[in-house]
Amino acid sequence: MQKFTLHCHTHALGCFDGRNTADEMISRAEELGFEGIGISNHFCWHPNAPQCSPMFINDENKALDMHLRIIDEVKTAALNHKIKVYVGAEVDFFPSAVWRKGFEKMLQKLNYDYLIGSNHFIRSEDESQIYNLYHLDLLPPNLKPEEFKELVQQHWNNVVYTIESGYFDFLAHPDYCVIKIPDVPEFEENRWKVIEALDKYKMPFEVNTSGYNRIDMQHPCDWMLEELCKRRVPTLLSDDAHSVEMLGQHFERAENLLQKFDCKKRLSLKFLEK
Ligand SMILES: [Zn+2]
Ligand SMILES: [Zn+2]
Repeated sequence: MQKFTLHCHTHALGCFDGRNTADEMISRAEELGFEGIGISNHFCWHPNAPQCSPMFINDENKALDMHLRIIDEVKTAALNHKIKVYVGAEVDFFPSAVWRKGFEKMLQKLNYDYLIGSNHFIRSEDESQIYNLYHLDLLPPNLKPEEFKELVQQHWNNVVYTIESGYFDFLAHPDYCVIKIPDVPEFEENRWKVIEALDKYKMPFEVNTSGYNRIDMQHPCDWMLEELCKRRVPTLLSDDAHSVEMLGQHFERAENLLQKFDCKKRLSLKFLEK
């Protein structure tokens, strides 16, 4: 069974969505006999990011300052522990030149061990309208169904662009939007596009076990996972823990599924020793 996680969250700076400190998360990982833990708080910066959470930042300097402090917090906590501790970020990717330029500039100063490519927003094509999946109540009340569909379509496109960008070590929860948006057959084609892109670049993706708590399934869904295993796209398990209790949660269930699908390509922590 996999004995590490690279996708978990803390309540860094008092404004992130984890419930524990880095120190508490690392201690729990040690208790569980993990060989390592990577802490990956949200990197949600965009000039047009909605201001419904203190984690979503519009200002580049503010974002940089915040993430420098988080990295420092994790590295300081790591000093009190024997286990291997890595610091990463779960980055919400956007394809525009403005976002890429800002992100690349910040990245030069942010000493991350790894980056997770992620998608928590639906958006318009030009990125002028961005809505978080958890705050869909903030959508304009007069939004037409076809306009909503377009925002969701751009979300799926964004997952593919995230893979194609080449910035990331692995892809987070490939079909995450289904937790908030009904999984209608008309979007199935998008799932195939995600599979094709992951296969083309042999980009690792996570099996995110936090979905078992929410909708009794992992991300990606069974048939996508089976197809990706068949194509030998590398994978790893992520608990996406937001508290100490969630560390390693449901790993056994996900391991069984990977065994059933005859998964041959697993990512180990060695990939971080690059
Ligand atoms: Zn996420
Ligand atoms: Zn996460």
